[in-house]
Amino acid sequence: MQKILNFIGGDMMEPLAGEYFENEDPSIGKAYSLVPDSDESDLEHAVKAAKKAFPHWRDMHAALRAGAMHKLADLIEENAAEFARAECIDNGRPLSQCSAANIARGIANLHFFADEGQKFAGENFKSGKIESYTLPQPIGVVATISPWNLPMLLFTWKFAPALAAGNCVIAKPSEVTPMTAYMLSELVNDSGIPRGVFNVIHGKGAKIGAAITKHPDIPAISFTGGTSTGTEIYSTAAKQLKKVSLELGGKNPTIVFEDADIETASDGALAAAFSNQGQICLCGSRLLIQESIYERFKIALLRKLPNIKIGDPLEADTQHGPMVSKAHMEKVLGYIDLAVKEGGRIAAGGKRHIVDGRCKDGYFIEPTIIEKLPPDCRTNQEEIFGPVVTLLPFKTEEDAIAIANSTQYGLAASIWTQDDARAKRVSAKIESGIVWVNCWNVRDLNTPFGGVKKSGIGREGGRRAMEFFTEEKTVSRMV
Ligand code: NDP
Repeated sequence: MQKILNFIGGDMMEPLAGEYFENEDPSIGKAYSLVPDSDESDLEHAVKAAKKAFPHWRDMHAALRAGAMHKLADLIEENAAEFARAECIDNGRPLSQCSAANIARGIANLHFFADEGQKFAGENFKSGKIESYTLPQPIGVVATISPWNLPMLLFTWKFAPALAAGNCVIAKPSEVTPMTAYMLSELVNDSGIPRGVFNVIHGKGAKIGAAITKHPDIPAISFTGGTSTGTEIYSTAAKQLKKVSLELGGKNPTIVFEDADIETASDGALAAAFSNQGQICLCGSRLLIQESIYERFKIALLRKLPNIKIGDPLEADTQHGPMVSKAHMEKVLGYIDLAVKEGGRIAAGGKRHIVDGRCKDGYFIEPTIIEKLPPDCRTNQEEIFGPVVTLLPFKTEEDAIAIANSTQYGLAASIWTQDDARAKRVSAKIESGIVWVNCWNVRDLNTPFGGVKKSGIGREGGRRAMEFFTEEKTVSRMV
């Protein structure tokens, strides 16, 4: 089986204790690679390497740092087909989507933040005889901890701004999807990023992730993952007053008003519900439909649902692959059982899906639509993170807003209406960090990204990410 290695101080390294665990291909349900089960000794080694590399990287001209990051992006692009295939095998997302979304965005993230690092500057103020300016300065050694659902996209999204701001990074990808982070680390030395500036440590969240969170020489942590893990990281980090950015779970509403274009809105709602098998934090897992069009809208959904092709994620026309792991498949199937126990009616899907041939043991679940559940039941309150969407009828705009805001989460929402004034009113009242109008998951990397309530703390994207990874110093003088 292929062995994944850590990348520490510019060297590809076995974990010092020599321990590994298995990593599965979820489309066939079999282990295919070994992941380092890193521990504190690996972390110590990485922190030492990063601390040593920091002064040089910090003092390097931003244009030179940018050059190395652009080069890394170019190297990934040269190998984009291999990256997409590896991401597909590791995660289960269909190959075409891995290529167009995960890997393409990974490359874009690096280019974007390379440029952002050169633009990022302090401010100037004058008040009477006081002249001041600010100096945003890198923090030192920072950590990024990322999840399995969009491995390459989120891995790069987190470490690129940290590097661009002049920090050294210890990056921990998810133990479930480590492969493309490993492949990326193999290219780093050729990019011109000096040894020790960027380090990748693989392993288990509860072990190496927790050790990173506690380490006294890592004063800032950027985390994307589940709300309960984020809460744990936040409380550990608080004891050392660490800077923390938390991008957490969601239970996002898709709200369809009676004046929406039904064809466009039903396409949008299906994409929001089932992209990446519903394993995107931004997925619209609660579909709120105005009562007067509820039946028509449901019929449109049910008519289009069979067009989503489930199957081997390596096949070019597959749109719906397996869940990322057996444990996650079982969790999602458990939620479907719960929905039925809570009185839900399964309008479509609802079962494990068996794919003939190579993928017969894969962890596939049918795209599932459930109705007749009240907004406050567990199915409608908890993040399922799978291909499961519930339909919720509503009467008025106020009802829609109340249902949309009735969960502990507040990451994203999409609103479908042809009435601009209504779109503005509802957007302002939805409790979430992001609202899309007549679209879903369109991203301008300059815009702030993040959630409210239990969906997170802080914002990523553009300047906000650079601000997180810097400390701002104010220098004032009397003139
Ligand atoms: P987890 O919270 O389980 O894991 C996220 C990362 O944290 C992984 O690298 C994991 O390692 C690590 N980790 C786990 N336990 C600890 C710990 N005690 N201390 C430090 N690190 C730890 O999330 P998932 O990987 O299951 O990802 C799915 C979740 O991520 C969903 O809730 C989803 O909504 C959320 N998410 C949020 C996004 C946002 O931008 N708001 C975007 C994408 C996903 P390991 O994998 O080895 O356990």
